[in-house]
Amino acid sequence: MASGSTSSVLHCGRCSHKYICFLKSVAVMEFKVGKAVLQLTCGDITEIEADAIVNAANSSLMGGGGVDGAIHRAGGPKILEECKRIRETEWPDGLPTGKAVITSGRNLKAKHVIHAVGPVWHGGFQGEAELLKQVYRNSLKLAVARGLKVVAFPSISTGAYGYPIEAASIIAINTTKAFLENEDSLERVIHVLFSERDFRIYVGTASSIF
Ligand code: ADP
Repeated sequence: MASGSTSSVLHCGRCSHKYICFLKSVAVMEFKVGKAVLQLTCGDITEIEADAIVNAANSSLMGGGGVDGAIHRAGGPKILEECKRIRETEWPDGLPTGKAVITSGRNLKAKHVIHAVGPVWHGGFQGEAELLKQVYRNSLKLAVARGLKVVAFPSISTGAYGYPIEAASIIAINTTKAFLENEDSLERVIHVLFSERDFRIYVGTASSIF
């Protein structure tokens, strides 16, 4: 079991300044959770080197817009073939919201893609928060079951699915932190934010949690 102790470090990935820096769009913030690191970074998840990146998929697993489209474009058509096989063999009616499945990463720098379905925002009274929590937890559980060490998430549900990012960031960070406090096989969980605005929101949330 990981110890629950946490401490925070703030630095720029490029210039090692002890504050957030957008030099060449590289901004990194890290928090220690037990033996693992919870990292926030700004960038394109398709360029992240990790054991797995998580895809904000839809339940069809047949690709889509946003980060889903970007991952399939960068990873190549074999990922879609693997998704089709998963649909045929495991989830003929589609992957339910909150669940996660895994394929290889093919042409990506990441070795695997964990495809997870986030909730569509309907105003917050249809179990969206619990479903979003399950997305993060089930993705991390799958990574642990496969012996993976480094996992990167986009900000699930906060694009086309309309989940307010301030509320989603609290769930993303709290769920990751709680998971790492109870599971010591993961080394690093990275939350990759696609814009400076989103990154700053996650930084604000993390600063109030840690
Ligand atoms: P959802 O349908 O779950 O809302 P989206 O793909 O529409 O999924 O958006 C989820 C988040 O992913 C948004 O914050 C969006 O800005 C972000 N995003 C889109 N493309 C990328 C990318 N290449 N890398 C990282 N994040 C991305």
